[in-house]
Amino acid sequence: MSRARVLSRCRLIPASRVSLVPQPSPAFNSLNVSASRASTGRRRFHAAASLFEKNRLSSHSSKKGPVSDDSRKALSEIAFAFDIDGVLYQGHRAIPGAREMLRKIRSHDIRYVFLTNGGGGHEDAKFKSLSKRLELSEDEDVIRNRIILSHTPMRGWDDKVKKQGTVLITGSHPEIARRVANESVYGFARAVTPADIIEANDKVYPFDNLRESLHKESRPLPDGKIVSNTIDPYSNDVPANALKIDQILVWNDPRDWSLDIQVIHDLLISHRGYLGTISDKNGNPSLPNNGWQQDGQPHLWISNLDLLWKTEYPVNRFGTGAFVEALKGVWAASTGGAELQFSALGKPSRHTYEYAHDRLLHHAPEAPHGKGQKRPLKRVYMIGDNPESDIRGANEFAPADGTEWISILVKTGVWKETAAQREPLYKPTVIVDDVVEAIAWAMRNEGVEATREWLAGSEDWV
Ligand SMILES: [Mg+2]
Repeated sequence: MSRARVLSRCRLIPASRVSLVPQPSPAFNSLNVSASRASTGRRRFHAAASLFEKNRLSSHSSKKGPVSDDSRKALSEIAFAFDIDGVLYQGHRAIPGAREMLRKIRSHDIRYVFLTNGGGGHEDAKFKSLSKRLELSEDEDVIRNRIILSHTPMRGWDDKVKKQGTVLITGSHPEIARRVANESVYGFARAVTPADIIEANDKVYPFDNLRESLHKESRPLPDGKIVSNTIDPYSNDVPANALKIDQILVWNDPRDWSLDIQVIHDLLISHRGYLGTISDKNGNPSLPNNGWQQDGQPHLWISNLDLLWKTEYPVNRFGTGAFVEALKGVWAASTGGAELQFSALGKPSRHTYEYAHDRLLHHAPEAPHGKGQKRPLKRVYMIGDNPESDIRGANEFAPADGTEWISILVKTGVWKETAAQREPLYKPTVIVDDVVEAIAWAMRNEGVEATREWLAGSEDWV
């Protein structure tokens, strides 16, 4: 094949950056990690590998119109979901070429979102911090309106839940979490923090160590509600002004586990979520779960189940999942071993992938709410560093519209090949060195001859 012929069919890529003969990346060879088990991962491996080969051959032999049009069409039917920490940066260091790669895919209108289990604050705060780390101007619109935090899917909850009910919200900074939850994009009309509860009645938690720090900010309970200590805990005749909680939202990893476990426990044993009451169904062996959480108690939502996270400290630190394990332990001890019933968001939860998928289908980050007309997708590539969350979630997610989610594991984050663990527990379609290589692999998988050098270079699309 002549060089001129290749270039005429591949206008998306600057001439100086075109890889004349499509080569499977070195990482593609590592696909054998996926080929050993009859699993979803294996099927995806074969599908992706055969697609790669088909596209490789067709890029040499296709007689159809110009590849530039084919490429544009192919790229309009795919999308990327990027994990952030360990994918776009390591510690405080941005992955070399990540910024240029993002500019490139943005400039060609390829759909993408950032899908992280981080949370606690507002999506815009994450947008600003990520822009700063990648040394991107906030005006570039490379990141804005594309951030999905662990709790972002709550934005899509039913208005009835958000407007009529009262939620208990807790996390690393409950007051910040409450403010975000109150904003119009979330729309929770009544959000109560643990600090509000102990301010309303200090008998709930008779310790004041953190009253002047973590629990310093509080607000009166909504609608003049109270937390009474004269209530009969077993009476179903509850005073009209008693505080009732309808949902419990663990927004991110709490700091005061002691208070939060106490208050969450109190609500889970209550009659219909009225604080200070005790359900007479608790422990009833004729009921499911021995009667625990069978009396209209608030539903417990956990924003993510990450047991550990990575900081600059050499040993991994506990995350929200560790708090949940502590809560489970206390719950098991106090109920005689009942199951703690709750729902989790964040990766690998299906709720989160469904939300991300919907955002990508209606992708319009320039729109006020980031939602535009629906455009179908063929494939979404999830690029992550954590097999248990990023890879597992993508492998297990099978959207109703038949879009294929393909998982790509990078080596810049939490997963490291060791003598004891040669392969990740949840096997990706492919393992690559870093996020730039991941995008190059995905594009080549779609028949677009992208190279790392071109993706990480500063030249624009042509
Ligand atoms: Mg990560």
